[in-house]
Amino acid sequence: MLEATFVMIKPNVMKKPKQEQERILKHIMDLFSKRNLSIIALKQHKLSLEQARNHYKEHEGKVFFENLTHYMADDVLSMVVLGENAIAEVRLLVGPANVERAKIEFPNSIRALYGDPTNAAANAIHASDSTESAEREINHIFPEMHFQQPNSISHKKVLCKEKNNFCSNKKD
Ligand code: GDP
Ligand code: MG
Repeated sequence: MLEATFVMIKPNVMKKPKQEQERILKHIMDLFSKRNLSIIALKQHKLSLEQARNHYKEHEGKVFFENLTHYMADDVLSMVVLGENAIAEVRLLVGPANVERAKIEFPNSIRALYGDPTNAAANAIHASDSTESAEREINHIFPEMHFQQPNSISHKKVLCKEKNNFCSNKKD
């Protein structure tokens, strides 16, 4: 299934010395490209506290919410990544949220390699966990894209109309 996911490189990577940061970003982009994943939007920016709170709103009320959002309100690199099963593919490359666990279970994952094991918020990278969250997160940071998942129902209807074809609402 063709889909797009939202990826954000976290401040612990963006704060590294230039050469090291470039090496890490190149490695991440190589991993995406090997999986046939294309970066279709890219923006380096400072995330505001309000944006950080909105981005992580599913975690509002949890003990780590304030710490996480204050940490994230800093320099980040946001991307929209498109490809077959992009959401699951990227989550596999990213690895588990807990860096210590990532190092043991998925030592080649991005979080194992570049996450900071001493700070839970600083696990190098964020990636969407569902088609709905990807759509929301993309439109939050890239509002000018008016993004809709390629497989979304309304889009499918448009495609079918164009083909002058009957089509069901099946999401496949
Ligand atoms: P993800 O989807 O894999 O990023 O993981 P979650 O949605 O469970 O959590 C979101 C982010 O919250 C994680 O990537 C971590 O950076 C952060 N996080 C999770 N647990 C903690 C914690 O106990 N303390 C802090 N400060 N951050 C945490
Ligand atoms: Mg999550």
